[in-house]
Amino acid sequence: MNVFVYIFGCWVLPSILLSLGVGGYIGYSFALRKHWKIIREEREKTLTALQSVVTSAEELSTGVDQHNSQLKTVGQTVDDLTANGDYEEVKQTLLNQIASAIESNKKLENEIVFTRFRLEEQAQELDKTRQEARTDPLSGVGNRKAFDETLQFCISRFQRQQQSFALLMIDVDHFKWINDTHGHAAGDDVIARIGDAIRTTIRPTDFVCRFGGDEFSVIFDGVNEETATRAAMRLRETVERKNFDAHAESRIALTLSMGLAVVTEADSAETIFQKADSALYRSKESGRNRLSVFHEGDAVKAARHDEMDDTTDDAESALSEANEPQEATL
Ligand code: GH3
Ligand code: MG
Repeated sequence: MNVFVYIFGCWVLPSILLSLGVGGYIGYSFALRKHWKIIREEREKTLTALQSVVTSAEELSTGVDQHNSQLKTVGQTVDDLTANGDYEEVKQTLLNQIASAIESNKKLENEIVFTRFRLEEQAQELDKTRQEARTDPLSGVGNRKAFDETLQFCISRFQRQQQSFALLMIDVDHFKWINDTHGHAAGDDVIARIGDAIRTTIRPTDFVCRFGGDEFSVIFDGVNEETATRAAMRLRETVERKNFDAHAESRIALTLSMGLAVVTEADSAETIFQKADSALYRSKESGRNRLSVFHEGDAVKAARHDEMDDTTDDAESALSEANEPQEATL
């Protein structure tokens, strides 16, 4: 009987507790809807937790294996004992118990191996699903869901810790021309390349997403207006200088219009978005291929296609008027 108590106490109970712990932890992680940095940290923690469960499961397997060897040795010793009469019966009972403990250990070992592989599978699936749920499949950057979560997180963090940030809304100029001239598939390729260009130009701590269609947005983390403006200008210039692959034999030069708003005390996710969107609209209205920065006192348009007064606050005054995208000279 003691053998069973030993097996249950040392192996079965800890393995159940470990499984419950990991299950609970994964469930808790899944319920969190926070900033992408936190999501990345959670992912690392989940993988670390999984790693430690796998290690524990391996240790358990080894432990069970060792325990089986010990039981076999004890069994051999008992078997070698010369016993008569009542002792013969005791010896037989003991041998039966040892045999059944060895059998239980084997089942437990199989159970551990099976659980370990299921856990690995489930954690990988969970990780993949979480990544996919926040990624735009075309451009590989964050999607609208990731944007909403990130913006909301940045607003709450700003209100609690005064960590500043700026929101940049970006819209490709005359993107429809690319679709009309080179076809929708080529347009898709260009969207993917623009996502790459933005991602590789901003800092890894900034966040980029495809807002939808030919619109992207960037959240510059921990910046003031001057730094955010410089970063946005660098992005605009990088894209302006680049030629984007549309087909194997065709490359396209294109430009971006941008609107920037730096967070203020009074902002919510909605108001800062409206401000950046307003500034973007102004860039479109005043000639495209430019950055406009929203300042308090500027009018916030109610909707993108509403009339706006044409007071411009362009970060660059001497930009050439952007015409339709051009076939690049190869
Ligand atoms: P503007 O300078 O005013 O922004 O002109 P635009 O032609 O870029 O116009 P707008 O931004 O309003 O329209 C973007 C177009 O992008 C509309 C649609 O045909 C195209 N589009 C939207 N989503 C996709 C997509 O997933 N793939 C492709 N290839 N095209 C898309
Ligand atoms: Mg556009």
